[in-house]
Amino acid sequence: PNSRAYAYYLEKECRRQGVDIRLNARVDGLLRDGDRISGVEAHDGRGPVTLLARGGVVIASGDFSASTEFKREHVPHAAHVDAINPASTGDGHALAQRVGAFIKNPEVMWGPSMRFKAPPVETLLRRLPPSRWVTRPMQFALMNLPLWMFRPFVTRFMTASLAPEPSMLRAGAILVNRRGERFADELSRPELQVPHQPGKEAFLVFDDALAKSFEAWPNFVSTAPGVAYAYLRDYKATRPDLYHEAPTLAGLAASMGVPAQVLEAQVQDFNARLPAGDARPGLRRGPFYALGPVLSWIVFTEGGLAVTARHEVTQTDGQVIPGLYAAGSAGQGGTILAGHGHHIGWAMTSGRRAGRFAAERARQA
Ligand SMILES: Cc1cc2nc3c(=O)[nH]c(=O)nc-3n(C[C@H](O)[C@H](O)[C@H](O)COP(=O)(O)OP(=O)(O)OC[C@H]3O[C@@H](n4cnc5c(N)ncnc54)[C@H](O)[C@@H]3O)c2cc1C
Repeated sequence: PNSRAYAYYLEKECRRQGVDIRLNARVDGLLRDGDRISGVEAHDGRGPVTLLARGGVVIASGDFSASTEFKREHVPHAAHVDAINPASTGDGHALAQRVGAFIKNPEVMWGPSMRFKAPPVETLLRRLPPSRWVTRPMQFALMNLPLWMFRPFVTRFMTASLAPEPSMLRAGAILVNRRGERFADELSRPELQVPHQPGKEAFLVFDDALAKSFEAWPNFVSTAPGVAYAYLRDYKATRPDLYHEAPTLAGLAASMGVPAQVLEAQVQDFNARLPAGDARPGLRRGPFYALGPVLSWIVFTEGGLAVTARHEVTQTDGQVIPGLYAAGSAGQGGTILAGHGHHIGWAMTSGRRAGRFAAERARQA
């Protein structure tokens, strides 16, 4: 019923096959036997551990969006932006580089982009247990019941923590921080400025005319492409923690928890200074609205270690580093995965293939 099911069933099958799973263990070194990678050094809750590999070590440590060092080196303009996934340490990239590997396309990333703050309580869909007793009836319902019946569940997903559409800013919404101040040109990559604001948070503020126009296609507040669209009324219904509405700017400021005088002055200033030729109409008539907080994140980086078609990690001269494999984001090998689902598809497929090639090597040894 949700993404946790992948890990749940994978773990179940691994345990059935006798795989030794070490939780909370961080790999911090590769072991070498001559020029061959022969295992890893790690630390778990109890101290250092050494794990030997007969066939090879498969690096599957994800991307490097949470590594300040890698971001400084490869995407310096976004080094201050947090990763949405703090587990994306880049450790595997760094360990492999130490034995001669290199990263392809390290400057390509998804984001930074603004996203609404996650709901205080996880949605029902996220909390469903990954059991067949749940998924079978869900599957039956999806195949047989009319789609409108699923709208409430889908809406909660659509308003959970997706990105506000940039078209809202183009249509004239402004961004203010927790002090009620505008801090960036909304049309010039404001997502790079959001992390510098108090609490790394911002709000979209707009007037009644804009609110009305974001109640129907083609103006939606957020979307997961190919799934559904969320409009302003959906945020009102499902995210009272994000949705603010008041007849006056002072009332809106009170709801957002920002100083009223500052917000009023900032809106007045924005309206007065709109340059000639700017299509944005300004915030003119109440009621006024705000959506937020939004935060800015790097979703993931695309740069992966260079690998062969057998997922063996290579050096700059194309030489294979014996015994070292890479899969998933860490082993993306220069491929830019632009389509929906391609990343998870690549992670599963490349992981399975790399494991098979390493096992083949163990059998030959
Ligand atoms: C918000 C968000 C939405 C996404 N949506 C989609 C989507 O809709 N479709 C899609 O295809 N993809 C999506 N992706 C991308 C997709 O989730 C990733 O590309 C994919 O999970 C990568 O898989 P992986 O196994 O390579 O790495 P991960 O799933 O990141 O797993 C890496 C693991 O390695 C561990 N690790 C890191 N360093 C060490 C270390 N030193 N020692 C031991 N373990 C370590 C981490 O803790 C983590 O558990 C999304 C990503 C994000 C963040």
